[in-house]
Formats: sequence, structure tokens, C-alpha cells
Amino acid sequence: MKPLWTCPKCGQTFVTAKVWHSCVNVPVEAHFAGKQPSLRETFDKLVALAERNGPVTLRPVKTRIALQANTRFASVTVRKNDLHCHVVLDHGKARPPVRKVDKLNNNYVHVFILAAPADADSRVAGLLKEAYAVDRKRHGARAA
Ligand SMILES: [Zn+2]
Repeated sequence: MKPLWTCPKCGQTFVTAKVWHSCVNVPVEAHFAGKQPSLRETFDKLVALAERNGPVTLRPVKTRIALQANTRFASVTVRKNDLHCHVVLDHGKARPPVRKVDKLNNNYVHVFILAAPADADSRVAGLLKEAYAVDRKRHGARAA
């Protein structure tokens, strides 16, 4: 397996060298500034569910916070009253709580919304587990 490429400017890592990205990092705290504390709790619960599967690096950029194994397998955009989330899977079969699926090359972006910690449930854990497994299948186990 090839090691990840590290951007010399911002330190973010990618499977593909010199891939386009924004070098602007916006701290996780800034995404939650002025928001209800329950949204941060919901986010932390989602991250904990993702970490059951292996190492996860948070990549907060301007509009979203990505969860990265080798690739960014999940993403969260903090909105006023909820979290707009997605996972990247290798098929387009949606199951609850997924609301829609966008196809991007060989990736299927499964979108779901979380509004409270209780929403980050076993169904969400299952989606994260599957997305993490797709990343591992394509790129191998990530070093911690
Ligand atoms: Zn960069």
C-alpha cells in the first residue's frame, strides 16, 4: 500500500498526491461556536461511533468536518439546528436514516441528518462501520 501524501502547506493527508483541496483549516470548536451544546454532543457521539472501527482523523475545513481513515469516509456540516452528515459507500442502496444518495464516480454519498445525541444510534454506527470498511477495502488498514 502506498503511504498517504501529505500537503506541505497544511499537513492534510490524501491518497492521491497533489490533489486539489483547501488548505484552510477551521478548528472544530469554531464550527460549533454559538450553537446548542447538544449539537456538539451529537457530533462527539458520531465520532466515537466511527472510532470503534479504527483510527479516525478529523479534518475540519471551512464548510465541513471530514472524518478520515485513508480517505474522508464521512463528513459533517454543522447547521443552525442540526448536523448535515454523509458517509461514502460503494453502493447506492439507501436505508434509514439515509435521506438521499448522490453518485460521484464510484462513490455513493449517503446523506442523513442528526439533530440530537439520540439520533447517533446503531443505524448510524452501522453506516460508519460500512464506510470505514469500504475505505479499508480500497486502501488497506491505516496506521494509527
Ligand atoms: Zn494543503
